[in-house]
Amino acid sequence: MPTLGIDLGGTNARAAVVDGQGKILASAKMALTERSPEAVVESIAQAAAEAVSLAGVPVTGCGVGAAGQIPGNSGVLAVAPNLGWRNVPLGALLSARLGMPVRLVNDLAAAAWGEFNAGAGRGAPDVYVAFVGSGVGSCIIANGQLVRGSGGVAGELGHTKVIPGGRRCGCGELGCLEAYCGGHNLIGLTRELLASGRSPVLNELTAGVAERITPLTLERAAEAGDPAAVEIHSRAGKMLGMAISNMITVLNPARLILGGGVLMNCPGLRRAVVEGIQALTSNTAREGLLIAEAELGDDSGLIGAALLG
Ligand SMILES: [Zn+2]
Repeated sequence: MPTLGIDLGGTNARAAVVDGQGKILASAKMALTERSPEAVVESIAQAAAEAVSLAGVPVTGCGVGAAGQIPGNSGVLAVAPNLGWRNVPLGALLSARLGMPVRLVNDLAAAAWGEFNAGAGRGAPDVYVAFVGSGVGSCIIANGQLVRGSGGVAGELGHTKVIPGGRRCGCGELGCLEAYCGGHNLIGLTRELLASGRSPVLNELTAGVAERITPLTLERAAEAGDPAAVEIHSRAGKMLGMAISNMITVLNPARLILGGGVLMNCPGLRRAVVEGIQALTSNTAREGLLIAEAELGDDSGLIGAALLG
């Protein structure tokens, strides 16, 4: 029986009706014009109603992937920075509004579950998924099960420490991997470099306009040989390569799935990660490891949420 998948971002709610094989039958999207929990629930319900009506089939349950921390199976979004929420019982609110059971999971877990079932992870029971987008996150699937951890926050690769007492991360702590490698921070570091006037190549690439900077701008400046850009870019590649390699050595997955906007759009960083893995994983953990790229793009979270629902 098909289920409903919801991908709740900071600006849109997307809904899809998905069959048991992970195929999207119909989907719809609503912009979040207001971010109060009641208004967001209403936007989700409207997107859901449209998707169900387009699919023309009944659905039996609903899964929601949302950016933020969700303790265990509480259905509560404890911290959701995109929405400015704290301790919102979204699962219960949405279940009452939709009249069906709702399972709430972290957006990355939903995306990983989608890739595991219907994308690059098919056929492998032990999968590690690393996403580098505006933030850095990962998800562990062991023996075909999502590993959530006792507090529901397992897999927080972005907040593993790479430099004790280093740069401040968005989480408030110091020296996290994300503070050096997350897209948001790469843009920040590149803007600082542009403002410092130490990078003529960067100045040329952006015509001095900081708003034009993306992680790919940094990569282009590094490829053009700009020493200051090379320093930031190669540090990010090395740190990501080492952090992911260490997870491979610890977990010994059959498959590593790489995804997220930064890794997908910056081939140089992706190459650095793959080279890091070749050089830094233990030989025994690397045997039989297959490195794959995420296949489902923006739909992975929708599909995974539906399959969890
Ligand atoms: Zn952090």
